[in-house]
Amino acid sequence: MEINEVGVVRNDVDETKKQGYFRDVESIIEVKEEFADGLQEIERSGYLQVIFYFSRSEDYDLVGPRHGGKIRGVFASRSPHRPNNLGSTVVKLLSRDGATLKVEGLDAINGTPVVDIKPYAAPFDSSSPPEEKKEDPRRKIRRLVKTGDLENLLLKAGELHGHYCPFLALGVMAGNYALNQLGEAPGDMEKLVAVLETNSCFSDGIQYSTGCTFGNNALVYRDYGKTAVTMAIRGDRGVRLYYKEDNYLKENYPERTELFDRVVKEREGTEEDERALKRAWTEIAFDLIHVPVEDIFKVEQIRTPDLPDYAPIYEDGYCDLCGEKFMAPKGVGEEDGPQLCIPCAGGPYLQLDGSGLREVG
Ligand SMILES: [Zn+2]
Ligand SMILES: [Zn+2]
Repeated sequence: MEINEVGVVRNDVDETKKQGYFRDVESIIEVKEEFADGLQEIERSGYLQVIFYFSRSEDYDLVGPRHGGKIRGVFASRSPHRPNNLGSTVVKLLSRDGATLKVEGLDAINGTPVVDIKPYAAPFDSSSPPEEKKEDPRRKIRRLVKTGDLENLLLKAGELHGHYCPFLALGVMAGNYALNQLGEAPGDMEKLVAVLETNSCFSDGIQYSTGCTFGNNALVYRDYGKTAVTMAIRGDRGVRLYYKEDNYLKENYPERTELFDRVVKEREGTEEDERALKRAWTEIAFDLIHVPVEDIFKVEQIRTPDLPDYAPIYEDGYCDLCGEKFMAPKGVGEEDGPQLCIPCAGGPYLQLDGSGLREVG
């Protein structure tokens, strides 16, 4: 077996330090001239796997006390004293200048020989075990709410919503605030109800942070077109939040408003405009999340919230034309006569879409 040194680490650290010390340390990797061509296109990767040689490690124990004094085998540790003295770390690639890479987080001291560099690829390099099926899948989210960790709530809400934007942030803020006002959110499905007055980005912030969703019937939609929500516990109290500062974004981010008008309202933005808007939205959303809720929302305590009953379980009906099954009350026809589904009967029907709830057909 032959291993070549392909480069060397340069940084200000001349002494061995604890691993955590290196998290923010910037290092240069000088790649040797004869290997420099191998760096072509490397800047497409944001993170790199760097394999290096602990040149100062001489001997090792197969089993011995490791970090924190625990007795472990060498392969069960990250000790630098190993049979082949190889270390490997995922680092952030900051920039490349010819054969020189600037990286962050490389836990190797000045002069450490580098033996390999590869792009970090999450599907192969990060095999965190699959999440287990949980009795309470929202436990982590609930904990974020309980601790008021708005930043992480918003980060996660983006996974549902598809982008970060100010109204998603507002929804997360309102949901988080209301749940904390109501105290421990009851685990029972449909016990906690959200009455939403709009279907917009705000609604996804509410659905994610509160767990009251379109699908679990804990979300009631009232088509008022207001950025507002009432969070309520059945048989108990509620709290309504209405976004009152509708000039807040315009006043605080005037140049973003222009961009928004061009891209969203007039639909005349270029691709570059769209990217710029997404960046701006993200920035504003994570800014906005720290504004005190009472500053931008009207908050009302609701003593006896007006809520519909629990979702009923309907009998099945079958369409005499297409044969498809539907919830019996949705059938069209005389009570004892043939039943048709709504589309076979030619409508009309109710549709919730970008325009709100409306009758079609
Ligand atoms: Zn949005
Ligand atoms: Zn039908």
